Formats: sequence, structure tokens, C-alpha cells
Amino acid sequence: MAVPTTLPEWPPSLTEEQHSHLILLSSSYALSHGFTLLPPSSSNPPTSAISAPLSLLPTPFPRGLYDLAVSLQPLYNALYARITLDWEFLDRVMGGSVSKVDTFQGELWRGWKSIREELVQPLQLGLFRSDYLLHDSETEGMSIKQVEFNTIAASFGALSQRAGEMHKYLSKATNGYFSVSPHLTNPANFPPNEPLKNLASGLAEGWKAYGKKDAVILFVVQEGERNVFDQRWLEFELLERDNIPVIRHTFSELSTLAKIDPTTKNLLLPSPLEPSSPAREVAVIYYRSAYTPTDYPTSSEWSTRILLEKSKAIKCPSMALQLSGAKKIQQVLSEPGVLEIFLLGEDRPDVGFGVGAGSLTQDDVDRLRLTWIGLYPMDNSELGRKAYDLALDEPEKYVLKPQREGGGNNIYRENIPGYLKQLEEESRQREEGEPEKKEGYILMELIEPPKGLRNLLVKGGENKSRLADIVSELGVYGVSLFGGDGDKEQIVNTTAGTLLRTKGRESDEGGVAIGISSIDSPLLV
Ligand code: ADP
Ligand code: MG
Ligand code: MG
Repeated sequence: MAVPTTLPEWPPSLTEEQHSHLILLSSSYALSHGFTLLPPSSSNPPTSAISAPLSLLPTPFPRGLYDLAVSLQPLYNALYARITLDWEFLDRVMGGSVSKVDTFQGELWRGWKSIREELVQPLQLGLFRSDYLLHDSETEGMSIKQVEFNTIAASFGALSQRAGEMHKYLSKATNGYFSVSPHLTNPANFPPNEPLKNLASGLAEGWKAYGKKDAVILFVVQEGERNVFDQRWLEFELLERDNIPVIRHTFSELSTLAKIDPTTKNLLLPSPLEPSSPAREVAVIYYRSAYTPTDYPTSSEWSTRILLEKSKAIKCPSMALQLSGAKKIQQVLSEPGVLEIFLLGEDRPDVGFGVGAGSLTQDDVDRLRLTWIGLYPMDNSELGRKAYDLALDEPEKYVLKPQREGGGNNIYRENIPGYLKQLEEESRQREEGEPEKKEGYILMELIEPPKGLRNLLVKGGENKSRLADIVSELGVYGVSLFGGDGDKEQIVNTTAGTLLRTKGRESDEGGVAIGISSIDSPLLV
């Protein structure tokens, strides 16, 4: 859906006094409402927090396109659930060249393949985030285009809820931001948004489906994580609202603590704090780690991942669901007919529309596909060879992506040709029949966000702002509990709120965690 929308001049001008007042109000609000990160090199336990990076004003976003992104989420939830249940497809796409040239994806796929016949828990939980940029085309007007679909450790749900609340508070506390813009005075322009509540509800649904009232939820976390309050908010919500206890551990702690009962396959965690109490059973494993090679410094982390996977606990995500979120899958989905197979195929399981597998239409397929931009393989197929020529002839139109998560891994524009040459050089010595290194990458057309928008960005822990040309990335959260055998009552497929991250236009990559983006909220126009 392309909608010709012009965005308002932004930001409205503020006096120095108004600006200082907003800095004071926003930092006070942030610190007192846990819109916070740990400072760099903080002690453990921490003794202080800093405000998370924020945009002082919300950023204008076309209402129709916001509604469209939100409305597509149940379709995406269903799509990724169906991909995850299709072992043949995962084997073809992830067990092929990618698993041979990308060590991390190879370990993940081979690990999953080696144990998948032994898995005892059919249910799987997804807390997803589908990310979009506005695309401003001269001929077609404004649309949203998907950047990627995250199936593991999609973060910032809690801080996003706080950012929206903060922008609403600032509007209320300043007579609609000093009446400098009609957009800021109308409460209807600030959409309701509760990803913290909804993601916690998703975890609680998994816990309920597991069905043991004494069981806990395990958060697998990274050592030294600075975005820890975003995770803690989920824990507080689960405990205070639903009476569900959460236990946090790193992989290295789990390598000695985690045990599986050989008969029941229950995942058991002893409590070092209560040595005389029986070990606690884990209902849901929620990963905020395990998505990047540095989370597996030795083979012991892989052994722990496999051990957890074989337990009866519901995984968020399972190894198969993590594989489904690979950028290679995103590229293959865009090949002709593939989406039809997943959304319209008669043989696909019901994953949450509640009305059977045959309920989707070509119209649903088309709506979803309209959010995609050109994606190409980097292999020796006809399409792959075409992509290679495109990348060398017009690199300024493309980004080259490896199978990685967490930001900072992509190769942009004029850096692509040299990088591809280098990969070719490295592949020269390969054994007969082995794939080339470049096959572990995909080529993606660059999305062109509208120009001219600016906002006041405040870095974490600072009390001044920077007026920057901006690009905002909208993430839509989704919850999917799927894989059960026919018990529809336990299947969940919901939209869970949104995230807006805003970065300076000069930077190609986003990423709050890697210090580039600010957490923002949309002002619907
Ligand atoms: P990751 O899984 O590491 O977050 P992404 O695919 O989201 O990888 O890429 C990181 C960032 O790069 C995005 O947040 C966005 O800012 C930028 N980016 C990625 N793909 C595109 C694209 N096709 N057009 C423009 N920018 C992109
Ligand atoms: Mg990602
Ligand atoms: Mg991303």
C-alpha cells in the first residue's frame, strides 16, 4: 500500500528555556520510571543507572502506515510459526551452503538436526519483532518496507513502552509541548502502546500452557548486559501481576547448574540460595542471549544450548525458530511462490487464526509482500549471478548482509565490491564442490527513508540534545505460541505493541544497544 503522505516540518522550534525545561523533565522522568541502562563499566551489583538514549520529541509517522504495520503482525506470526514447523524447508535453506560457510548458523542447524527426533516439547514460543523503515519513492509515494524479522531476543519492549509514556507525560506537563505544534497537543496522535505488558503476557501464556504452578521462567542472559532494566521490567511484571517467578542465568552458570530429569525430561535448577529446597522446574526458557557467536565462546555453551533444547521446557525461541529468523530465510521467502506455499498451502497447520488453515487469501499474501524490497541470494543460481552484477555495477543501491544479529555487521554501498572480492579471494582455496563464502550473505536493496525530518536526540546519560537529520525504524512486536497438537485453546497469535528507534541519518546502522539509535515514539500524522 503506497500512500502519498507528506510529513510535517519537524521539529517545531523551541526557545532555549523550553528546551532546557524539556531536558529536565525528560531526564527526571526517565530516571524515576526506569527508562534506563546501566552505565558503561558498571559494578555488579549496580549502584547507578543512566537514562536510555531518547528523542526529546516523538517523531511524525504516517498513521495509515503505522496501522498497516500493526495489522500485518498476526500474518507474520503465522508465517514464521509455519516456517519453523517445516523441517524440510529449514533443511533446504539453512542446511545448504549457509551451514557450510557460516560457522555459527552451521552449528545451530547441525545441533538442531542432531537432536530434533528426541525433542519432547511440541509447543514453541515466539516473542517476535518485525522491523520496518519508511520508504519514499518518487513514483509510488510513501510505504513501509521490512528491514528484517527477529525471532530471538527482540529487545526494548519495556523501554519502548516507557518512551511512549514519557512523550505523553511531556505533552501533558507542558500544555502540549508549549503549544508549539498542533500535532503535539492532540492526545489521539500518541498511540496506545504496551509492549512490556504484552510481551510479559506472552511469557505468561507459555508458562500457563506448560501447566505446573510451581514452575519458573528462566531468562538466559549475557554477562555484562547494559540493557538490563528492559529485561528486569519483564521479570517484575511477571512476578507482580501473574505471580510467576523468574530466574536469570548466563550460559556459563547454566553449564554447571542445569539438569534434566532422565525420565520426565523436566529441566531442573537447584537454588544456591536455598540449598535444602528441591530444585525448581523450568516452564519456559527465554533467551536474551544465544543469538551471536560471542555468546558461544567455547563448545560448552553449545552443549548447554543442546541440553536446554532437549528438556521439556517451552523454548523462546527453539533452535528451529531461531533458524527461521535468519536473513537467508527472509531472502528465500521473497522468491516467487514461496509465500503462497506457507500462507495458502492447504496442508499447513492452524497457527492461531482460529479458523483453520484455509482461511488466508491471496490478498493477505499481497499485503505482506508489498512490505518487501529487493532481496537476492549470493549464490551461483541465475538470480545470484544477477545479484552479483548488480552489487558490482550499482553498489550505492544495496546492503550486503551476513547471517548475524545484534547490529553492526552489514556492508554498505561502495564497500560492497571490495568486500565481495575479498570473500572470493578467501574462497579460492576451497575444496572441490564446497560453496563459496559469499553464499553465506544476502544482498538487499536499500530502503530510502523520507528526507527532511529532524529531531532532538539525547544520548544516554547526557543532559543536552543534538539536532539531527533522522531515520526512524518501526518495530512491531508479536507473540506466537504454536506447535501443539490440535489443542487450539492454547494457541496464541497476537500483536504486542511497537518500538520506534531513531538514528542520525549519517549512520547506516541502527541499534540502541550499540550506541547509535535513540528510543523514540511515533506521533501519528
Ligand atoms: P540486525 O539483525 O543486526 O539488526 P538489520 O538487518 O536490522 O540487522 O540491519 C541493521 C540496520 O541496518 C537496520 O537497523 C537499518 O538501520 C540498516 N538496514 C538494514 N537493511 C537495510 C535496508 N535494506 N535499507 C536501509 N537500511 C537498512
Ligand atoms: Mg536482527
Ligand atoms: Mg535489526
